[in-house]
Amino acid sequence: MSNKLLLTGAAGQLGTTIQLHWPQSALANSYQLHCCDVSELDLTDKEATEAYLDALAPDIVINAAAYTAVDQAEQEPELAFEGNEKVVQHLANWCRFHESKLIQISTDFVFSGTADSPYGPEAKAEPLSVYGSSKRAGEKQLLNLLPDRSAIIRTSWLYSEFGNNFVITMLRLMAEKPELGIVADQIGSPTSAHSLAQVVFRIIELEEIGIFHWSDGGQVSWYEFAEAIQAISLEYGILETAIPLKRLTTAEYPTPAARPAYSVMDLSKTLQLLKDDPLPWQEELRKVIAALRKH
Ligand code: NDP
Repeated sequence: MSNKLLLTGAAGQLGTTIQLHWPQSALANSYQLHCCDVSELDLTDKEATEAYLDALAPDIVINAAAYTAVDQAEQEPELAFEGNEKVVQHLANWCRFHESKLIQISTDFVFSGTADSPYGPEAKAEPLSVYGSSKRAGEKQLLNLLPDRSAIIRTSWLYSEFGNNFVITMLRLMAEKPELGIVADQIGSPTSAHSLAQVVFRIIELEEIGIFHWSDGGQVSWYEFAEAIQAISLEYGILETAIPLKRLTTAEYPTPAARPAYSVMDLSKTLQLLKDDPLPWQEELRKVIAALRKH
């Protein structure tokens, strides 16, 4: 098997999840998976990245690496743009001259959140934050440099049993605190890294190019999401006691980076391709909490 697929950001939550499902994916029959993370290769280092890619010569790159510190990005925009724009530029340039493909993961934070119906892939991107702007800048690099051999998969509210995410944070706080306030006026769609990993595989198998949206089914506020996390975790014995949850407004819970108030994405283009609907977010959440119980 001589075809090679490189997964960057392999130690992140999506990278870890992709590695977990890789052996069962149809792609494993035709590609050798190679993984790297920042400890082996700092993708912001252009020369090192080119040398790594020259040596490996991957046919496909899945870029699951990113600068993901949303609030910190407001203080260090140059680092956010290095990690989310320059890295994509380096990868896309190499792929362009070596006839390779690039799959880039992007975010609902490219949208302003002022819409009142789901954002389609062609909806205007108007990021509110440095992180959102840096991810959008990465998308633009890819659309300019490699439009015929790249796919951008935007996702939202990503979580899993691995790494740092809202579910893990809620479980820690719910075990530590007597009560918890959670923002109830931001609406979005949670996405399990497991369902996203399957969509990444399918888009590669189908050799699709362009912008795709993926989340799990349905929409919720962070408050409702937290309520479900608590209820399922109590049921599964991960939490021992329920604590009161309080609804907060965005104004009552200020963060350095502004978040879109409404970031639900229209999945219809992706669903036409997959010929399958996403599972409701509650079902995906149940699976991740069940996996946490085993940890
Ligand atoms: P993580 O932060 O868990 O993983 C990103 C990985 O990239 C980390 O292992 C990180 O290493 C690595 N990395 C960062 N900078 C570099 C670099 N310069 N060179 C090499 N590797 C680097 O992110 P997720 O798995 O949660 O996110 C996957 C993708 O999904 C990203 O593109 C993100 O923007 C996108 N996304 C995420 C959402 C979320 O809610 N998490 C929502 C929507 C989209 P280290 O940890 O050491 O920095």
